[in-house]
Amino acid sequence: MVADREQQDALLELLNSTPVVNGGVHDELEDPEAARSWQRSHGGSGTAAERKQLMEVREALQQVVRGDRPATSLSPLLKGVTSHPRITAEGVSWEPNPPADRRMAVEAVLTWGALQQGMPGRLRPCANPECRLFLLDRSKTNKARWCSMALCGNRMKARRHYQRTRKAAAD
Ligand SMILES: [Zn+2]
Repeated sequence: MVADREQQDALLELLNSTPVVNGGVHDELEDPEAARSWQRSHGGSGTAAERKQLMEVREALQQVVRGDRPATSLSPLLKGVTSHPRITAEGVSWEPNPPADRRMAVEAVLTWGALQQGMPGRLRPCANPECRLFLLDRSKTNKARWCSMALCGNRMKARRHYQRTRKAAAD
């Protein structure tokens, strides 16, 4: 199962909620008030417990996607989560049944899992070492390297150009 687009976007936005701003890491969930509206706009309830879970799952997923820790390290985040069957005209689907405050965090892990299976390697860190953002490459060629061409792509290209011209001038 590939998670639907909305879940994929929500996961990416969670992973990208610690951008580098003016040379320092800015955490969009650090301020409780700002976090509450972030949670609500992403389908959460906005509680403090939910925020705590989200920050924990974000840290873990960021490290796993960067390759800094193994995927198995995510298992505590799914501990005790069970699924229950739901019958519709299309058949039976199994839906996770976590406590309310864990729902967003559990969904983030499940979406990551669905991407690993359905679109392996497509969720990855931006190739700019000074950028902390991630990208989800949905293109056919699967060659995207930057979180966004406008932000990092052009910046890195300009830097390479600058280094080349400087080297040429020095030669
Ligand atoms: Zn970037």
